[in-house]
Amino acid sequence: MPAGTVIVGTGQAGFQTAASLRAEGYLEPITLIGEEPHIPYQRPPLSKGFLMGKQDTESIELRPGAFYHDHQINLIAGRRIAAIECAERRVRLAAGGRLPYDALVLAVGARNRTLSIPGADLDGVLYLRSLEESIVIKERLAEAKEIVVIGGGFIGLELAAAARSLGKAVTVIEALPRLMPRVVAPVISDFFRELHTSRGVNVLCGCAVSEISGADGRVREVRLSDGAVFPADLVLVGIGVLPNVELAQGARLPIANGIVVDDHLRTADERIYAIGDCADHPNPFAGARVRLESVQNAADQAQCAAAAIAGRSECYSALPWFWTDQFEIKLQMAGLSGGYDNAVMRGDPGSQKISVFYFKDDRLIAIDSINRPADHMFGRKIIASRVRVTPEQVADESVDLKALARQSPSPRGS
Ligand SMILES: Cc1cc2nc3c(=O)[nH]c(=O)nc-3n(C[C@H](O)[C@H](O)[C@H](O)COP(=O)(O)OP(=O)(O)OC[C@H]3O[C@@H](n4cnc5c(N)ncnc54)[C@H](O)[C@@H]3O)c2cc1C
Repeated sequence: MPAGTVIVGTGQAGFQTAASLRAEGYLEPITLIGEEPHIPYQRPPLSKGFLMGKQDTESIELRPGAFYHDHQINLIAGRRIAAIECAERRVRLAAGGRLPYDALVLAVGARNRTLSIPGADLDGVLYLRSLEESIVIKERLAEAKEIVVIGGGFIGLELAAAARSLGKAVTVIEALPRLMPRVVAPVISDFFRELHTSRGVNVLCGCAVSEISGADGRVREVRLSDGAVFPADLVLVGIGVLPNVELAQGARLPIANGIVVDDHLRTADERIYAIGDCADHPNPFAGARVRLESVQNAADQAQCAAAAIAGRSECYSALPWFWTDQFEIKLQMAGLSGGYDNAVMRGDPGSQKISVFYFKDDRLIAIDSINRPADHMFGRKIIASRVRVTPEQVADESVDLKALARQSPSPRGS
């Protein structure tokens, strides 16, 4: 009997690999195993609808429990894989026992980067990655009055918006000079700073947190390196993640900014794939190796790895896209804007409906859209198909993006 495919990690990437393998007509055994004690669920609602009480546990499941039985996917929840025994082609469970594989998919994701300042271990300093953590934050938010959010990236700002919408006093502290600095242009950072400020969030950029202090083991205040002090009965930390590379490292697979894979998402061992938040992969839209943290990347890489395991190997070439919801505003991003040399805006900045188009060497590489879903959709088509457009065209509201997206692509490299 063939060993089939073992998928480690029951997040977005792990779930999608199993589902895509069956959609590809793969008939061999599939084992989907993860340390979390739940059936696979979506993470984005944990800082949005679920946290706000608009969605319950069932509504965030990626598929109902019956899906796994119906598709003959052996789902094992609440079990950690301790090691890969490459030579024997099997994985070892931390609780004991081994699972053989013909193909192994590491969809092990990432974990929160933690603070290493005095007071970081006080009760009331919380992080958000898992369903359990979202449940705890929700419970603690109900009692808390003053919240300090450390980190002005997507997770920090979504937490700030949720807490403020629940009527809490909220301060956001970002170390860099502007919000979401690594991924959006200054005009988008400014827009979100204004949005949060207008809703009563106290936004501080360019400030370093030096200490968290408390009483009776519970957090009481957050101190900045310039001496400023902010009272807090809850501190929510969103300062990025670290990829889970230890399993791959133990198997002596190459590690860089994640588990190193080739353009087919294979590690140095051709039977082992790594996908999603943990994978350092060559990305044609970045023109470089990157590690992306998004639902799109996890789901598309899963489909690509599943196709390869099912015998239909192709290079990974999906266009990156991402979204964030803060208050009633949706920001949608397509492409990767890193290294842009020109950015133009479409729409009136005062209207709460704008898009920023990023160009590099006269080529459109990315677009960020605030409450302009059509721009996002056509922008995705234009970037993915490499249609040549000019900054003047996309900035001009009278030019139809849909018509531009229908043009024939320019030859690669031209
Ligand atoms: C609060 C929050 C909000 C987000 N919002 C958005 C959003 O709006 N838009 C967007 O595009 N993306 C968003 N993301 C990011 C997105 O959810 C992730 O990029 C995506 O879920 C990554 O999926 P993954 O399967 O690669 O990793 P993960 O979801 O991290 O799954 C990995 C799984 O592997 C398990 N695991 C690790 N090691 C082992 C082991 N040794 N044995 C067994 N199991 C193991 C982990 O416990 C985990 O369950 C958000 C993330 C969070 C946390």
